[in-house]
Formats: sequence, structure tokens, C-alpha cells
Amino acid sequence: MPTNIPLLPPTLRVLERGWLSANSVVGFEPDGSATVVDTGYVQHAEQTRALIAHLLGGRALRRIVNTHLHSDHCGGNAALQAAYGGPRQCPIEVPLGELAAVNDWDEDALSFRATAQQAAAFTAARGVAALERLRIGGLEWTAYPAPGHDPHALMLFDPAHGVLISGDALWRDGFGVIFPELRGQPGFAAQRETLQRIAALRPRCVIPGHGAVFDDVDAALQRAVQRVDAFVADPLRHARHGLRVLLKFQLLQHPHGVPRARLRGWFADAPLLAEVGRRFWDGTDPGDLFGDTVDALCRSGAARADAAMVYDAG
Ligand SMILES: [Zn+2]
Repeated sequence: MPTNIPLLPPTLRVLERGWLSANSVVGFEPDGSATVVDTGYVQHAEQTRALIAHLLGGRALRRIVNTHLHSDHCGGNAALQAAYGGPRQCPIEVPLGELAAVNDWDEDALSFRATAQQAAAFTAARGVAALERLRIGGLEWTAYPAPGHDPHALMLFDPAHGVLISGDALWRDGFGVIFPELRGQPGFAAQRETLQRIAALRPRCVIPGHGAVFDDVDAALQRAVQRVDAFVADPLRHARHGLRVLLKFQLLQHPHGVPRARLRGWFADAPLLAEVGRRFWDGTDPGDLFGDTVDALCRSGAARADAAMVYDAG
């Protein structure tokens, strides 16, 4: 944990949630209502609703904005919207590039089916375009494109206070898996451009999608650029990292462990994992790939396993 937590404008609060649920940012509006950016994973939806209700203290939530539509960022949308009066009273805004897929609930275009992750269906009132201005927490933000981790992702920047809501484009130590690369599409160059865009904005502090707010932004950017370079030099390393992250996300959903056979079944059946296996390790038995991924997680301290069960750790 950084010791010098930077001060955010008093109209912003960050709910730091860990890795299964992304952080939520709550903005208190001058009219007494509130806005939330990102809503966590569906498994935590009731906890998210309770945390937001506590923070709002009777204020009305009048808007939900998503940086991108991964399951750990939009899983509480439906529950929060229902708790605050439905689509008319609490509209949802998503990156414009995802608007049609959301409103058709096209699970092939969205990522939930490919990763075998869960989501509760919702509809969005409108799409947020790149370079659009948004008012959140009484502050004026610009939505910047943040492709790389997710081609449609946006990040929000308030130049007056130097605050960046980065989603999964930049964390204190790294960034989210570059999903297009797992599917054979370019993503590393876009991620590098996104990091350059952040550097040019010169944020004073970053509210990341996961982890604590940080203000040592230059060092974070330096680490992130080195990480992209390492992945470009060795795409297999990124693919292995992607498998570990996706497997870890399954473990996070099961605090009491998952039977090894069940986890192996998920690994073989989730379309994205099967695709990654074919693309990067053609001819390798999926069971071996699964075993190697579990072993790697255990070696790094992110999981522990015995003959029957695999457990989250770390
Ligand atoms: Zn993400």
C-alpha cells in the first residue's frame, strides 16, 4: 500500500474492491444526486448495492457509467439500476463501441461467453464517444480512448484536478490482459499508445480499476511500458499470463476451492481458453496446459492445490 494516498476532490469516493470486483468511483453531484463509475462483478452485486447505499446516505443514484464492459466492471449494473428506480431514473452509459452489443445482449460480441464469466443483462441509455465531455461528481471529465486491454475501453480524465480514472488500461503495477492478442488480433501497439496518451495527460493521480489510488504515475507508466515491451518480445509469455489471469478469476469466485476436475472442465470448455490453446500451443493436450497453468499459479503463490482441489491464495 502506498503511504502517501493522494487527496481526491471531495466530491469523489473510491470503493476499492480487490480483483474479483473492480473498483467503483462514486461522484456526488451538485444537485444532491450521485453517479457511479463501474459496478463490480455480478457475484458481489448485493455487496456493491449495500456499499453504494451506505456511501450515498439517502442520495439518489442517477447514473451509471462504465469504463468498459468486462464482467468485473459491469456486473452490478442491473442490481444498482433496479435499486434506484430502473432505466429512466438511473440510466446506464457505456462506451459507444459497445452500445449495440449491450442492447442486443449479444454474448458473442461481449466477452462473457468466451471467458465463461457471469453477467446480469442490462440495457444502456446511450454510448459515450471518445473525446466526449462528461460531468461526474460536479467535475468535468474527458473520455479518452484506451484500447489495448479492451478495444472499446474509455478512461476519464479531469484536467482541473489531474485525476485519471484508468479502468484496466493502467494499474500501479501493470495493466489488464491484452485480450485482442489472445484472439490473434493486434493489441500491444494500441496498449503502448494508450500509455503514451496517459503520459501526455500528465495525471497527478490515478484511480485504477483494481488496487489503491496512486500518485507515482511516472513509475507506473515506466513499469507498464516495460511490460508491453516484454510481451511484444515474447507473445507466448503474454498468452501464458492470460491463461493464469483467467484461471485465477475462476478461483476468486470460489473462496472454498474448486474441484480440480471441474476447473479442468471449465478450462477445456471456455471458448477463449480453447482458442488460446489452439493458437499458441497447437497439439498440446489441454489437460497438460491446464496442469502447467495451475502449477504456475501455485509457484507464484496465487493458488494452492492438492490432488482433488484447487484454491485461491495470495
Ligand atoms: Zn477489464
